[in-house]
Amino acid sequence: MPARETEAIILKTFPLGEADRLVSFLGRSSGRMRGVAAGARRLKNRYGSTLQVLSHVRIWYVERETRDLVRIQQAELLDSFNKAQSDYSLSTGLALVSETVEQVLPEHEVNEAMFRLVLLTAKEVERRAATALSLAYFAFWTVRLAGCLPRFDLCAVCGQPFGKGSAFQDSFHPGLYDAEHRRPGMKPVSHEARELAEVFAKQRLDQLDEGLTALPGVQELRDAGLNWIEHHTERRLATRTLLET
Ligand SMILES: [Zn+2]
Repeated sequence: MPARETEAIILKTFPLGEADRLVSFLGRSSGRMRGVAAGARRLKNRYGSTLQVLSHVRIWYVERETRDLVRIQQAELLDSFNKAQSDYSLSTGLALVSETVEQVLPEHEVNEAMFRLVLLTAKEVERRAATALSLAYFAFWTVRLAGCLPRFDLCAVCGQPFGKGSAFQDSFHPGLYDAEHRRPGMKPVSHEARELAEVFAKQRLDQLDEGLTALPGVQELRDAGLNWIEHHTERRLATRTLLET
């Protein structure tokens, strides 16, 4: 079979045998895939630093009829996020993005919007050297692109508008609830956080003012987004605990 080529974002890699690596990547024109990079664990190998979490690469691979795994032939670095990849807290943020993508996107399904969101998020974590705003934006947009974003203006149970009051959410329910219908353990999504969601909906992450980072709504939106992702995938995001400790 001839080699295929796609722009891709590396999601994760695992050692495989003595010399190889198993690589999970999100291809712009292939969707999420897994492949084997032969010889990638050897000291001298042709992959260099291309196989880091969320590195933006061009990848050449060959599909094999009988196997799930493709054979990766070559990878060329387009953008690396060295600062973020080598810092503990920033790289935990990148790992959360990678884990989320693995959970929400089925294999082999092309998703241009998610590809652009992941790339933008990685670039902004690197540029801002901070994760708060980027992860809140990423979580919000992941839920929105999945078509799972609940109404932000009224209670999911009774339909009463929230007005200036807080709404409430948790990972066991898909919506936002008012004070009357809030369940035990639910966390607030304040009026300010819901206004910030409107900003997220209209502006690109790289245009957002750094001053927004200090708003409590950033954290509230990130928590709500991650809770809804966990609700819809019915799985906990393991990296999230690392980020919160
Ligand atoms: Zn209600």
